[in-house]
Amino acid sequence: MTLTDRILMGPGPCNPYPEAVAALGRPMLGHLDPEFIALLDETSDRLRTVFETSNALTFPVSATGSAGMEAAIVNFVGPGDTVVVGVNGVFGGRMVDVAQRTGAEAIAVEHEWGQPVDIQRMLDAHPAPAMYAMVHAETSTGVRSDVAAMGANKGDSLLLADCVTSLGGVELRVDDWNVDIAYSGTQKCLGVAPGLAPLTVSDRAIERLIPVPQSWYLDLNMIAKYVTGGGARAYHHTAPISMIMSLHAGLGALLDEGLDAARARHQAAGDAVKAGMSDLGFELFAAEGSRLAPLSSITIPDGRLGSVGEAEVRSRLLQEYGIEIGGGLGPVAGKVWRIGTMGHTARQRNVTTLLAALADILG
Ligand SMILES: *Cc1c(COP(=O)(O)O)cnc(C)c1O
Repeated sequence: MTLTDRILMGPGPCNPYPEAVAALGRPMLGHLDPEFIALLDETSDRLRTVFETSNALTFPVSATGSAGMEAAIVNFVGPGDTVVVGVNGVFGGRMVDVAQRTGAEAIAVEHEWGQPVDIQRMLDAHPAPAMYAMVHAETSTGVRSDVAAMGANKGDSLLLADCVTSLGGVELRVDDWNVDIAYSGTQKCLGVAPGLAPLTVSDRAIERLIPVPQSWYLDLNMIAKYVTGGGARAYHHTAPISMIMSLHAGLGALLDEGLDAARARHQAAGDAVKAGMSDLGFELFAAEGSRLAPLSSITIPDGRLGSVGEAEVRSRLLQEYGIEIGGGLGPVAGKVWRIGTMGHTARQRNVTTLLAALADILG
């Protein structure tokens, strides 16, 4: 039996909000049509509300979250610059790679997987780098790090925060926390299909834009004229119109519910996963006090699954119940499950269904 209407409880994509799905079917508009420009402006306004920022340069980059990461780095650092990156999972490691490719010196502050970024170690690594970079919510480990503490102590350096798995699901205050550059993705807690990377850039960071960065497509000097042109919009690339309509609708659903209510819903669903999995005899992987609500990382104790392999359990969940959960990455492959409760998925009914299905499979 094949079920195509999955319950998506992996590390992403989540199930999109019905409003976001419906908007994908709206009639096409031209990318310079005043009606589309108004919709893009309103989408950027909604993103400002969700990022809790007044940054003028706030818009969805036309590609997935990884393009947000690349845009956030290539536009600000290059040869001769130093970037201090907190690495406590897969995505911090990717930021090191992107920074190195620009010719910048990247100092990787490595952490044990499952631990949050240690802000004192970041500061000790270099007193005044061009940029400090860290992942707010590490999807590979289910850990939340203290971006606010980094922002309070960063001095004159720029602060870049990867907010792909936090935006819309957990507390995030870009302006209050002194975050200069933050990017996200649509398919995690924002409850929209994958395809866009919401990005916000402070005025301080705009003053430090590299005039001719190593990417043409992601050159913020050029894109800024298209997204904040105030009527004098110049063509840069054809915006993915339908995806922006969908993001607009998804953000509308999120803001109608209320940011605080949506965050509380993510917290309740994440808590229910952790409690239910503990009851089933599993352990929690992420360090206590830094556990992320939208992504629960679950350690599989030796012997808990009997003779059944962990991949087989995930495969049966998918085939028999239409439920997707994620396996572990890198050093925790085969040892950890990652259970997402993001966006429209973050509801008790899905958690209850998953726990019952697992209990059934495990006997
Ligand atoms: C998913 C994710 C990304 C990458 O986003 P894509 O949309 O897959 O390109 C980057 N950082 C974090 C923390 C993520 O969870």
